[in-house]
Amino acid sequence: MDPITNLISSFTRFPGVGGKSARRMVFYLLKKDPTELRELGDRIASLKDGLHKCSECGNISVGDPCPICCDALRDRGTLCIVEDIEDLVSFEQAGVYNGLYHVLGGRVSPFDDEELSEESVEFLLSHIRELNAREVIIATNPKMEGDLTYYTLLEALKEARGLREDLRVTRLAFGLPVGGSIEFADRMTLHTALESRVAAQLGKGETL
Ligand SMILES: [Zn+2]
Repeated sequence: MDPITNLISSFTRFPGVGGKSARRMVFYLLKKDPTELRELGDRIASLKDGLHKCSECGNISVGDPCPICCDALRDRGTLCIVEDIEDLVSFEQAGVYNGLYHVLGGRVSPFDDEELSEESVEFLLSHIRELNAREVIIATNPKMEGDLTYYTLLEALKEARGLREDLRVTRLAFGLPVGGSIEFADRMTLHTALESRVAAQLGKGETL
């Protein structure tokens, strides 16, 4: 394949980019001078250099712990559990939340053969214990996978030891359309989803 076709095919692997957009991007790049192209190439090549997974929350940043976990002005008693870093970024950009996060880095999705690993659940539980959190907000997406992930986490929280007796477990109230996602929600929707979050429905007679 020639370089143009090669690059078009690379760009079509990006999420949400079809053949037409990929072609436009490549022809845009063809008009740029070689220095600019090399700079872009270098930025892509070095993207992961110096980045770490935060050992407290699973976020990715230059430092460990990440700036959010280090921020003394945040409410350290509230933990918002998100599926991916993109969801954390959406909340941060919306500026509607001032607690800490925990990034699961996955979800329960039978169709994709995805499960939450024991390590990832243990990582979450130890984070909650470490903070002695008063509230965990389960902010999974309003999709079947998000529901399954929510129930899996709820079970894990029920069985976990060493959490506060009065730990409050809540879930985002979706204002978000079913099948929608946190990643693409606007500020107002995220604000409403957080503000009107609901207490987790536990089984009869069960406590956390
Ligand atoms: Zn962190």
